[in-house]
Amino acid sequence: MELVGKSVFGGVAIGKLSIYQKQDNVVKRVKVDDVEAEVTRFQTAKETAKTQLAGLYDKALKEVGEANAMVFEVHQMMLDDLDYVESVENIIRAQGVNAEYAVATTGDNFSQMFAAMDDEYMRGRAADIKDISNRVVDVLSGASAGGINSTEPVILLAEDLAPSETVQLDKSLVLSFVTKLGSTNSHTAILARTMNIPALIGINYPEDVEGKMGIVDGFIGKLIIDPDEETLKKYQKKKEEEEEKARLLLELKGKENVTLDGTKVNLYANIGGVGDVADVLKNDAGGIGLFRSEFLYLESSDYPSEEDQFKAYRTVAENMAGKKVIIRTLDIGADKQVDYFNLKKEDNPAMGYRAIRICLERIEVFKTQLRALWRASYYGKISVMFPMIISVSEVIKIKEIVEEVKKELSDQGIPYGEVEIGVMIETPAAVMITEELAKEVDFFSIGTNDLTQYTLAIDRQNPALDNFYDSHHPAILKMIQMTVENGHKGGAWVGICGELGADTTLTETFLRMGVDELSVSPSRVLSVRNAIRNIDLSK
Ligand code: PEP
Ligand code: MG
Repeated sequence: MELVGKSVFGGVAIGKLSIYQKQDNVVKRVKVDDVEAEVTRFQTAKETAKTQLAGLYDKALKEVGEANAMVFEVHQMMLDDLDYVESVENIIRAQGVNAEYAVATTGDNFSQMFAAMDDEYMRGRAADIKDISNRVVDVLSGASAGGINSTEPVILLAEDLAPSETVQLDKSLVLSFVTKLGSTNSHTAILARTMNIPALIGINYPEDVEGKMGIVDGFIGKLIIDPDEETLKKYQKKKEEEEEKARLLLELKGKENVTLDGTKVNLYANIGGVGDVADVLKNDAGGIGLFRSEFLYLESSDYPSEEDQFKAYRTVAENMAGKKVIIRTLDIGADKQVDYFNLKKEDNPAMGYRAIRICLERIEVFKTQLRALWRASYYGKISVMFPMIISVSEVIKIKEIVEEVKKELSDQGIPYGEVEIGVMIETPAAVMITEELAKEVDFFSIGTNDLTQYTLAIDRQNPALDNFYDSHHPAILKMIQMTVENGHKGGAWVGICGELGADTTLTETFLRMGVDELSVSPSRVLSVRNAIRNIDLSK
């Protein structure tokens, strides 16, 4: 039998299927004589639950990082929420009933209330309220946490998994997990990706599968139950290939990006959307050096709302758990056309109406994105950079708009974090004014794809010119050198996020120039790390 759902994290798992043993949370309503003793029982149980959550926070902090562990801190705070506590105590006192019943009822009421809210983020908190209430009920009734009904590793099936359940799983017993419910943005999904466990959601598995053989194909979101010999063999082979790749990668994971003589460089990854973050983590990049935000616009049939963008940026920032995430503002036009922008057809689109030129004229579109970015900056380490810059006055204008956006957010009481501001250096004009630009920004990121196109006057989209598109051209290398020197003089750090950054034949050249950061596609991270680790700059 084959069931198709949605993949939360890729990979192949083969093993026995086992259904997660959830706690029996049927809570009985019992009349009590001493209501104050019952209130005290609740308070004690609440404190115990908080201690458990603090333990889970520490465990998650070590395993999956601060951003992902945060949920357990939030749960601790929720348990102290005055409305929540008052509701439980009122039910005990007014109805003269047991604490278990009062907590379960409060949990139900509050989660229904959250579930009915307009804001999707708040709706998502309904599961958190249920989770904390179940925990307190478990403490009150002396039950232990649910678990895995097996001593050998299994593909774990569950209706849904609360974050506290996910983090408590004995990972040595879990090959993969598969749930009927859950969303790609739930905490559980985030944790799963970070934990590196292939995982599927939206799989409506039958209940009579305990102990049967199963295959999870996390690449296409498929669960195969009771596979035939041929399928099993095919997947065993696929799994071995995956393991071999992982072994090679593993040797470099966790190692520093440092040359033989001790020079360190930041090695980040480029992404086009939220879905690429798993690859970034899998390949151990130190951050995201270029998030091409225009993909959010390209995937959409209308302007993506501030809320949708905020969610995407926030998810990326949270998943990166405090590591730097550099988001580039909208870079449409040229080869990236979006119908609903109704841009006029141009004879020469590569040199046309694109990127920051559009943003500086369609201020509302630009501001919507900036608001989303600054709002998301509260949840991680976000930097923002601007594409296709050709003049200082553009940067000054951008910074004015940024200030307006920040003021609006402050006036509305919406929090935001510290955001580094940078510009892409991808036009010869920008290179020539790097000395002046460096005074205005925190960093430069060199877009060698466009820089090559504009410096050599070669349309990067025209296959007939492939033989002329020489990104090793001395003009390009001199421009990179100049950018680094002027950037450093003016106090800006300098990275490369164009394809050339992953060219390992140039890694040494870049390091000798003093480049501070290289951002490459996730699958190239470890090979660039390998190159860096074999360079000796003292020679
Ligand atoms: C570049 O031009 O080098 C770059 C990184 O941006 P894009 O390829 O998205 O234009
Ligand atoms: Mg570019």
